[in-house]
Amino acid sequence: MDNIIRQIFLVPKCKCCFKPADSQNLCNSCRRELEKCRIANPHLPLNKKIDFVDESYASYKYEGTASTVVKGAKFRNPAPFLASLLDDISIDIKQILAQNNIDTVLPVPSHKSKLYTQEYDLPVEMAKRISKHFGVQYSDCVAKVRKTEKQHNLPKDRRKANLVNAFKVTGNLTGKNILVIDDVITTGFTVSAVATELKLAGREKVYVWSYTLNIERKENT
Ligand SMILES: [Zn+2]
Repeated sequence: MDNIIRQIFLVPKCKCCFKPADSQNLCNSCRRELEKCRIANPHLPLNKKIDFVDESYASYKYEGTASTVVKGAKFRNPAPFLASLLDDISIDIKQILAQNNIDTVLPVPSHKSKLYTQEYDLPVEMAKRISKHFGVQYSDCVAKVRKTEKQHNLPKDRRKANLVNAFKVTGNLTGKNILVIDDVITTGFTVSAVATELKLAGREKVYVWSYTLNIERKENT
């Protein structure tokens, strides 16, 4: 009986397949699958031009196990994802912070209406953990002041316009070099809209790091 209780309550569950996992909240099989989603040299800038962003980085491709764990964290339960986040990305973040002299992390903000939905504000929780672990300042001085359509529900040609005037600097921003934190980058329009506000507020350099990069397939039309 003891063993059954132990298995149910104490053994961490894999954040991807929910089978018993190791201390990093992934079973061995999903750990191997997640490694397959790793971006080669995540500490090197992505070959992706994002307006107002000096350099962008990502740790995983948004596919397979990596997309499953992000979706699970956003829509179901962020706890296992956050518990093992630093195991997954701290090598990357350490180098990105050092090589760009970053003193502040800032999450891509959500509109306050999101608090009433099932969706978790993942970038906020990620940025807080990164801030605490690496001793860099956490800033929430950029707010989402207008509710927008979900980017992935819109055709590509409407995604940029959807974000016009959506973000504003609402607090004191003391950091000089800022790393914007996100969970998924697809077009880059969202982080670009945040970076625009930061640059208008006089920030010298704006960098972006995302847990995953969604490399979209070419559309048929
Ligand atoms: Zn698993």
